[in-house]
Amino acid sequence: MSEYYRRALRQMDINRTEKIAEARARSDAFYAAHPQLDTLQKDIAAVTREGFVAMRKGELSADALEDFSKKRIAQIRKAHEDAIRALGVDPASLSPRWDCPACEDTGYIATEDGNRKMCICLKQLAAALALVAPEYRPDPAITFEAFDLSRFPAQPDPVPNEKYSQHALMEKVLEICKNYAENFERKKAGNMVLVGDSGLGKTYLAHCIANKVAEKGFSVCFVTAYNLSNLMRGAYLGESHDVEMEQALLSCDLLVIDDLGSEPIRKNINLESLFSLLNERGIAKRPVLVCSNLLNTSMRDRYGERITSRLMADNATILRLYGSDVRHMK
Ligand SMILES: [Zn+2]
Repeated sequence: MSEYYRRALRQMDINRTEKIAEARARSDAFYAAHPQLDTLQKDIAAVTREGFVAMRKGELSADALEDFSKKRIAQIRKAHEDAIRALGVDPASLSPRWDCPACEDTGYIATEDGNRKMCICLKQLAAALALVAPEYRPDPAITFEAFDLSRFPAQPDPVPNEKYSQHALMEKVLEICKNYAENFERKKAGNMVLVGDSGLGKTYLAHCIANKVAEKGFSVCFVTAYNLSNLMRGAYLGESHDVEMEQALLSCDLLVIDDLGSEPIRKNINLESLFSLLNERGIAKRPVLVCSNLLNTSMRDRYGERITSRLMADNATILRLYGSDVRHMK
């Protein structure tokens, strides 16, 4: 289990204990003021006894016992809640109010085969903790589950001078991106470069990958090249030196740099800082995911051989998108 899951569970456990204590205090205060209503447990025990006695006397079969008890206990609970409500109190306020009713804030849900599975709320909390720099995180709403392949046109087939239709291409790309994210392993995943014009879905895919990788418990940092360039410039000029941020950029398990090529190039500052960032991450085998509208040759022209080859290292996955802008299509 990753560090982020452990931290998430710890956090949930603390919250849960607090909620139970708060509910206990509310309930104790309520029953202290209305002792005549503090009979629920006794009433339930009495009904259970009543059922057993009836069974022993032969008035109730063993099969019917469970049904009988369930029905009577539900009736008693309902009467009890009605009595509380009659005093102007919401009966639910006497029990803990869970953030996630599905797992009652435990992070796990019992399955039918007697095992337990992780609740989505635990996954989400671990993912949120894994996004190391809160101001640089992917949009949580953009996920593979929400990806709408139908937005990508199947005509013309193929796109002129290309191999596939835009739809068929995106289907393949989506599969590769999903595999990359789902099988992401620390120190084993290579870099990924998504190349193509604006409006073809690169950034969207990068958000999907980042969210999935974070959900798996890996730390993720999501920056635009523009923000990155500003951070580097600030650090270089000594204007701002965000040590924590620099550490996050270097040490997160996956660094996403969106829109590489759109940022202003300030010679020696950007190129040197970018190279050393990519180089240090490369040596530590920490992958980088880059979205860019620069094709291979324009990337070499702009960033030079060192940066380009570091980015496109041997095991990098390079995906080129083509077709028409889908942002305004319906
Ligand atoms: Zn839950």
